[in-house]
Amino acid sequence: MPATVRANRDVLTRVLAHVSEDEVVALTQRLVRIPSVFRPDDPDANEAAVAHVVAEWLHAEGLAVLVEQVAPGRPNVVAWLEGAPGGPTLVLEGHTDVVTEGDARAWRHGPWSGVLEDGRLYGRGAADMKGGLAAAMAAAAALKRAGVRLGGTLVVAALVDEEAGMTGARQFVRTPLGRAMDAAIICEPEQNELCLEQKGVFWARVTIHGRMAHGAMPYAGVNPIAAAGAFLGALPRLERRVGRGVPRSRFLGRPHITPTRCRAPLDGVAQDNVIPSRAGLVLDVRLTPGLAAETVRAALDGLARDVEARQPGIKVEVETVAPPRPPTKTPRNAAVVRALGWAVSAVTGRRPRFGGVPGSTDGTIFVAERGIPIVTFGPGNRQVPHQVDEHVEVTELVEAARCYAAAALRFLGAS
Ligand SMILES: [Zn+2]
Repeated sequence: MPATVRANRDVLTRVLAHVSEDEVVALTQRLVRIPSVFRPDDPDANEAAVAHVVAEWLHAEGLAVLVEQVAPGRPNVVAWLEGAPGGPTLVLEGHTDVVTEGDARAWRHGPWSGVLEDGRLYGRGAADMKGGLAAAMAAAAALKRAGVRLGGTLVVAALVDEEAGMTGARQFVRTPLGRAMDAAIICEPEQNELCLEQKGVFWARVTIHGRMAHGAMPYAGVNPIAAAGAFLGALPRLERRVGRGVPRSRFLGRPHITPTRCRAPLDGVAQDNVIPSRAGLVLDVRLTPGLAAETVRAALDGLARDVEARQPGIKVEVETVAPPRPPTKTPRNAAVVRALGWAVSAVTGRRPRFGGVPGSTDGTIFVAERGIPIVTFGPGNRQVPHQVDEHVEVTELVEAARCYAAAALRFLGAS
C-alpha cells in the first residue's frame, strides 16, 4: 500500500471519530424544522432563517463563512476550510430551499416535525436536501475538529433557489470561490450512489395561432385546437427519432419530450360555441448525455413547419422558456470520482454503487458555467423527494457525512 494511502487511512480514522450519529441527526432535525419554501407573495417564506442557522453553526465550528444575498431574504451561505496555498478546491454543495409541503394533513408526521421513527427522519427536506447539507456540514466540522491541515480548500456551499431558477448556483459560480472550484460533490438524495450522469432539461412553449370563429361555422375560422392535436400526435415519433441519434444511457435511459400543459383559449373566456384564436402547449424536454438542446429545438421547429403546411392559416411558434440546462456526464477516472469511490470503500467496506440523476440539480450550472467534474452523491431514496412523508434513513445520513469527509481528505490530501 503506498505511503500516502496509509497516511490517509490513519488520518481518516481520526477524522471519522468526530462524526457522531446523534449530532448529524440533531442537525438535520434542526434544519428540517425551519420551513424554507419560497413563496414570492410572502416576505417571510424564504431561505433566510435556515441559512442563518447554517452560517452560525459553521462559524461556531471554526470555518470561514460568507453570507451573500442573491435576492431579498435569499442568502447563499458559503463556508470554507483553508488548506495549503495553491492546492485544489473541492465544493460540497447543497441547497436550503425545499418544495411545498402540499396538504400538511396528508402527512403521517407533520412536514416540519423532524420526527425520528424506525431509523427514519421525517419531514419536508429530510432527503431533498437538508439531510445531505447537514452531512456536508458535519464532514467539514469533523476535519476541522481533527486538526487536519488539508492540501487544498474545502468549501461547503448552501445555496438558495435550487427548486426554481437556480439563481443561488448562478451567483455562486461567479464569486472567487466559485471560480476557484476544481470539482464538486452535489449532496442531493441519490441513496449514496455515485451519479456521474444527469439529465439536462428545457421547457418549450408552443403557441398555435389560428382565427376565431363561431362554432357553428368552423369554415369561417382556423381552429388552433385541431393543429395543437396534430402537433401533440406527432410528438411520440419525434421523441423516438431524436432518441435514436444518441447512445442509450445505462442509468438515464432515453430522452423524453413530455407535454405538461395544454390550454385554449389563451386569452378571453372559454366558451362552448367559440373557436378560439390561440392554443398553447408546454413541453418538458429531458436530455440525456450526447443530446444537445439545439437538436431537439430544430426537430420541434421542423414539426411546427409540418403542422403549418398541413393546415393553411395556422402559425406555430416554438420558444424556449429559459436557457436550457445541458445534460452532464463525468468520466469515471476523474479525480473526484476516484476520491469518492475510495471514500465509500474505506467507510463502508463495500464497493461503490453507481447511478444517474433523473432530474437536474445545481450541478448542471457548475458544469455549464465552469466546466468542472461533478459527482452527485447523497443520503435519501431518490424517489421520495417532493412527496408526502419525505424521509431519510439515518444510516445513509451518517454514512454520507463520513464519505464526504473521507472524499475531501482523499481529493485534497492532508499534510
Ligand atoms: Zn434537491
